[in-house]
Amino acid sequence: MHKDTTKHPCFNKAEAGNCGRVHLPVAPKCNIQCNYCNRKYDCVNESRPGVTSGILKPFQAAEYMDKVLAKEPRITVAGIAGPGDPFANPAETLETMRLLNERHPHLLFCLSSNGMGILPYLDDIAALGVSHVTITVSAVDPAIGAKIYAWVRDGNVVYHGEKGAEILLGRQLAAIKGLKERGITVKINSIIIPGVNDHHIVEVGRVCAGLGADIQNMIPLKPTEDTPFSEIPEPGRETVLPLRKEAGEFIDQMTHCKRCRADAVGLLNDDQSVALCGTLRACSK
Ligand code: SF4
Ligand code: SF4
Repeated sequence: MHKDTTKHPCFNKAEAGNCGRVHLPVAPKCNIQCNYCNRKYDCVNESRPGVTSGILKPFQAAEYMDKVLAKEPRITVAGIAGPGDPFANPAETLETMRLLNERHPHLLFCLSSNGMGILPYLDDIAALGVSHVTITVSAVDPAIGAKIYAWVRDGNVVYHGEKGAEILLGRQLAAIKGLKERGITVKINSIIIPGVNDHHIVEVGRVCAGLGADIQNMIPLKPTEDTPFSEIPEPGRETVLPLRKEAGEFIDQMTHCKRCRADAVGLLNDDQSVALCGTLRACSK
């Protein structure tokens, strides 16, 4: 089926006022631990990645999607962005995409991953009609990555420090290349962490652009309680804007990210995840 791939509010700012997205929270586990991430919260009043009102099984996500589309027909994108990582939960992720492809083939499909576990599934992703994938890359130097990731799990083996960061980076760069070879639009999310990678994040954009990535989304760290980075201050516009300008010389920059929840739904400027949390919870039972 032909899809208008311009109708993605995150990849195309011009459409952000007309079309919306749903994040389907079917992926609770993660295969790495970022030092800024805390997924313990399950709170309808908090808005940041990792937060969701509930977890859905794939068939529940498909039913929830039916209900959301009935209430908000402006939705053009169905995505999976956690609350863990889609490819730490590959069976759930692919089954959800398969069901959506059956029931709502007109939607754009979108996945957001740390890249660690995605490589075996690149052909499946392409075959299921996923048009947009985000890989979060916040360092392209394992010495810096080692400060960002507490651990990285590959199968049953857990790696720490530079070794873990090096394995993760290798997977991420291979994923970008493999996704582009399959004609998929790729966004790079890069978390700006003052004192850790702010001096390095333009280099992240340069390296990813060299592999064909389409756009970079520099996201200021949102310090979160009970994480190693909870005391690092959130970088302001004076930090973020020059970095975007510098990296914008070689890769397009996203400037309207809302740092959405793992169950976000609606237009970016008219999020209805709190309004629809009852619907999500009813579907999760
Ligand atoms: Fe949290 Fe995402 Fe990092 Fe996993 S990859 S630890 S879910 S921020
Ligand atoms: Fe779009 Fe940013 Fe929200 Fe992801 S977190 S859906 S990129 S606005």
